[in-house]
Amino acid sequence: MKILTVIGARPQFVKAAVVSREIKKRSGISEVIVHTGQHFDASMSDIFFEEMDIPRPDYNLNIHGLSHGAMTGQMLEKLDEIILTEKPDFVLVYGDTNSTLAGALSAAKLHCKVAHVEAGLRSFNMKMPEEINRILVDRISNILFCPTDTAIKNLKNEGFDNFGIKIVKSGDVMLDAALYYAKKIEGKAAFLKKIGLDGKKYILATIHRAENTNSIERFSSIIKALNEISKFEKVLLPIHPRTKKIMEANGIKPSFDIIEPVGYFEMLELLQNCSAVMTDSGGVQKEAYFFKKQCLTLRDETEWVELVENGFNTIVGSDFDKIVGAYKQLSEKNPDFGSMLYGSGNAAAEIVDNLIENSGE
Ligand code: UDP
Repeated sequence: MKILTVIGARPQFVKAAVVSREIKKRSGISEVIVHTGQHFDASMSDIFFEEMDIPRPDYNLNIHGLSHGAMTGQMLEKLDEIILTEKPDFVLVYGDTNSTLAGALSAAKLHCKVAHVEAGLRSFNMKMPEEINRILVDRISNILFCPTDTAIKNLKNEGFDNFGIKIVKSGDVMLDAALYYAKKIEGKAAFLKKIGLDGKKYILATIHRAENTNSIERFSSIIKALNEISKFEKVLLPIHPRTKKIMEANGIKPSFDIIEPVGYFEMLELLQNCSAVMTDSGGVQKEAYFFKKQCLTLRDETEWVELVENGFNTIVGSDFDKIVGAYKQLSEKNPDFGSMLYGSGNAAAEIVDNLIENSGE
């Protein structure tokens, strides 16, 4: 049996790493990896393949830096050829990027089965390119691997029970990754020492969502709030290339600490040792919870509503007063992190079992 995996952006490398590892353990199943090139430089791509031991891609499409339409169109053209050549049993896609959409759409049109990991998530904000991608990909998939009960409920509300699509609650592959790789780096806190943060209190921040980087009002307000918070506690921001661009273009010079994007191992170290997380990332919100850290989400909504409902996460948007106010309240909250909102860390095994079971139909 052959799986053709389509990945292209940083969060997909993290998710695919654990499923690829699981595929390697099994006999009678092989994986062909296509890297679309959406994220392509050393710090956003290569380091993840190296550290996480992801097999070298069989195809690298090198498609990046284009408009959504041009990027997706070029990916479709190349993926059609590859799928026709490789004839996989399943095309496996992750998350909600243009690579996810192109992989699923190309496969569906060629009548090749599609499996979507991280299915059923909704922000209910159709202005987000990710929301459009998710909805379309879910609808044309054959198997949907849902990380949470909320994801399953969303699909049911949209009538997915009537579409003949298999829906599986697999748990979250990002938990598999966090558990497995955190063990690998146990006792090796080299990065914190290197950047002078060993034993220090700091907030870990990430910003990269288009809704924040495309609006100078939102972006400036968030930066102002982080500047203010950095008067009380160090704020560390590993900067996404998109965010760096908007800072440079607008001459914004924050007073908190900015470093280049870090590798996954370094990120795990930063997550494990920070006092709290502030982010607009989907993945980082969950990772904060995995490492028992409170999170302030710099967006107006989240797909990971269970984190908010259970008091681990506060939605603060981009408003200065809301962000700083919520930061000051963090110490008053003491949520119990004993729950298992994202499964038990065996999502990858569940996914591969299901792919094997459903390959013949
Ligand atoms: N990440 C990383 N280095 C960084 C920032 C993020 O390794 O400098 C990891 C993070 O821990 C998570 C993944 O990248 O596993 C999330 O990717 P991102 O925030 O880019 O995307 P999103 O989850 O919002 O789709």
